[in-house]
This record gives sequence, structure tokens and C-alpha cells, in this order.
Amino acid sequence: MERLKLVARNRWAVIIILLMIVVVGIGIFLYLWPKQPTPLVDDALPRPVFAQAFNDALGIPEQSAFMTGRVGVITVPPQCTGSGCSETWDPAKLAQVRQQLEQEMRATWQDHAPASANLSLEFVHLAPVLITGVEPIQTTRPTKDVWIKQMMTRVMEDLGIEHNTEANIFAQAMIVNEHHRQQYGWDWVVTIMPVNAEQANGHKFADGTHSFAYIGGPFAVWVVPDNGWPETMSGRVGDHEFGHLFGALDTYAGTSCEQTGGYLRNSPVSFVRDSTKNRNGASNPGCAPHVPNIMDMTGPAPAPSTRYQAGWGDVAFRDPETGQWMPGTDGWLDVFGAGRFDGVVLNKVAGTLAGTATIDQMPVGGGTATVVNSLARVYAVNPVTGQEFVYNSLPQDATGVSFVIHCVPVDAPLNLCLEGKLGGRRCLTVNAGSNPDPEPKIFKTFLPIVLN
Ligand SMILES: [Zn+2]
Repeated sequence: MERLKLVARNRWAVIIILLMIVVVGIGIFLYLWPKQPTPLVDDALPRPVFAQAFNDALGIPEQSAFMTGRVGVITVPPQCTGSGCSETWDPAKLAQVRQQLEQEMRATWQDHAPASANLSLEFVHLAPVLITGVEPIQTTRPTKDVWIKQMMTRVMEDLGIEHNTEANIFAQAMIVNEHHRQQYGWDWVVTIMPVNAEQANGHKFADGTHSFAYIGGPFAVWVVPDNGWPETMSGRVGDHEFGHLFGALDTYAGTSCEQTGGYLRNSPVSFVRDSTKNRNGASNPGCAPHVPNIMDMTGPAPAPSTRYQAGWGDVAFRDPETGQWMPGTDGWLDVFGAGRFDGVVLNKVAGTLAGTATIDQMPVGGGTATVVNSLARVYAVNPVTGQEFVYNSLPQDATGVSFVIHCVPVDAPLNLCLEGKLGGRRCLTVNAGSNPDPEPKIFKTFLPIVLN
């Protein structure tokens, strides 16, 4: 009997020990299991219509239409001061995360850009801007305007920029962006706001949201560190948001294969060129196979779809026989070259070339109205003698000129040339002729850009 009891007690002890081993084992397993960071799925926000209206009212040209040329990136960190604050930017830490951001952005975008994009990223890091009465990471997406407005108002005061206190955060950001674009001569400009989230519960805003950006600009909010993403990946989160500022869309599983973005978004080219069908995961049947992409945080490089959205496409024309879109062969990106058609209407009367030349502001049939290069002049050249005939009309506006060129002798073949303010020219061979044409002739050409 005693022996039986001992055996029973031992059995319980063994069971308890086994149970403990299982529990500890599960604990160790869960601890070591790689943590899946939260995808940045809801981080790309459409720019409000009124923001665009402000842009137009201010007369500020697009600030981040195509990722080309010299792109300026301003970082502006908010720093709460006074009561209710919970985060403090340590200068060394701030310098480190900014360095991480620069490295990631150069590795993703600059190092992968086509040579013809001539892309260089240039950074201006502003000192932390003191704001009172509000800790940014403790706000929500709807209440974020409070700290952004306070911060941008101070930035404008520090820079000596005249400002309207009624201006909303989009107008403020655009004005600050433009100030820097003028100062440094950048082609494009965006602002990234690093928000300290070291102490915050879950490293996110009070409503559970995290880093976000407005598609097409003018600014992104970068949570450091971001909800679920390890500190070593902080730079890449900001890098991802930068892609949104230039029109790139998320490519996470679950997002639509048909969603289009960037300058190709309204164009049939976007479908033919597979510009957005790059969703990861088997949950998206019908989508093109996934390739690692910065826009779903599965890789450091932009996928083909993302490259098109950022403005790095080179599509020449639709082949009239096969109906296929053909890759560009002129070495210019669509936004500079073959995709940009300038209509030249020639009304030829004896010894005179007259007409208007305009720039198509909607490259490749869609996207945001953008003047990349405006017409500086129209002139004709005698290819044999080199004699120039200059138009005698003034530019109408940034997008076009009307011209009247008197040519002597009237029967010589001439090169009619359009020249851009930023450089680049296109010439057509025409003949002024001795007899007026009954109908105006329409020529198509395009105006390339030589970015400095
Ligand atoms: Zn995103």
C-alpha cells in the first residue's frame, strides 16, 4: 500500500515536471519566434482636395511629382516642452536615426534610379522645434494638426517666412518646402517629420496609428521607432514613407491589384506595364508574382511597379500594328522625353511660320498637371547657312508660346526648334513655302529636360 502511494506521488511529480517543461518550452518558443512587425498598410493618405487648391492658390508648382534630378528632403522633429511631455530627443539618437534614414533612402532610391533620372537626394536637417502643451505621439491622426501647425508656424517664424496664421498644415508645409527649394535650387522637395515614440505604449499614436505620408506630398510623419518595427529598421520606415510622397503605393497583400499610382495612374500604360500588379502573398489571385519591394517592406529596393509610379518609366508609344506599348528608345524617361508631346500648330503662309507651341501638362495621358520644363523660345534655323529666324511673339504663359517667324528665303527648308527654359530642344524640319496652306498643320514633338 505504501509503495503504491509512493508510485502515485512520483507519477504526479513527473506529470507536473513535464507540464512545467512544456510551459517553459512554449514560453521560450514564443520569445524566440521572429516577431512580425505591423505592416504599414494604412499609412498612405490621399492628399486632401483643399490642399491642392491651396497649392494652386499659392502658385506653388508641384513639389514631388517625379523622383528625378535634385530632390531636397527636410527633416523637422517636433519636441514637446513643458508639462504633459513624455518624449525627449537625445541629440546623439536623433543624429543616428537621421543618418539611418539617409543611408536607407540613398540605398533604395538613389542607388536604384536609372541614370537618366539624374537623381541626387539632398538633406536639410532642422533642429528640434519646441512645441508646448502637446506631446505629438500622444495625439491621434485627427488631432495631429495641433502639433504640426504649432511646429510649422515656429519653423516659418525662425526662417523669417511671412505667413498667414490661418494657413492649414498643408499650405504651411508647401510654403516651407518652397522656401528651401528656392534656397538650394532643388528640383523637388518634401518634408519628413520624425516623431519620437521611444516611451509611448507600443511605439504608436494614441489611436494606434503610426507613420504616414500624403501621396504626392507635401509631408510625411515618421514615428521613431515605429510600431512593431525594430529600431534598426527605423530608417527603412521613413524610406517607405518617402516613396509615398512621390506617388508610390503600398504593395501589401490585400491591396487591390488594379490600384494605380504616380504619373501613370490614369493611363492605360499603367495596366500594360504592370505598374501596380505587384502584391505579395497568395491572397491576391490574379496579381503578378511578388518581388521584394520597399513599398511592402520586403526589400530595400523599389519593384518595377514602384519604379513606374515614382516616374522612372520609359514607354515610347503604342505600336499601331500590334497594339503593344513599346519601351522608350530615346534614352529619356517618359516624364522628360517621348511621353511629353508638345503640339505645334503651324499656319503656313508665304514666308511665314505662325502658330502656337504648348506643353502637354499631363504626361503619358494622366497624372497630376505638372510643368517640368517650360518653353523658353521658338525659332527657326536655316540648316545650310545657320541663319536664325526668331519668333516675334512673347510667351503666353509657362506652358506655351505663340509665334510668328518670318523666313527668308521663303522656299528654304528650315528647322523649327522649341527650346526649354531648363535646357533641351526639339527641332522639326519644315518648309515655309511660297504658297499658303489651306489648313493648319499639326506637328507633334516633345521637349526634353536637361536637369542641372
Ligand atoms: Zn505605406
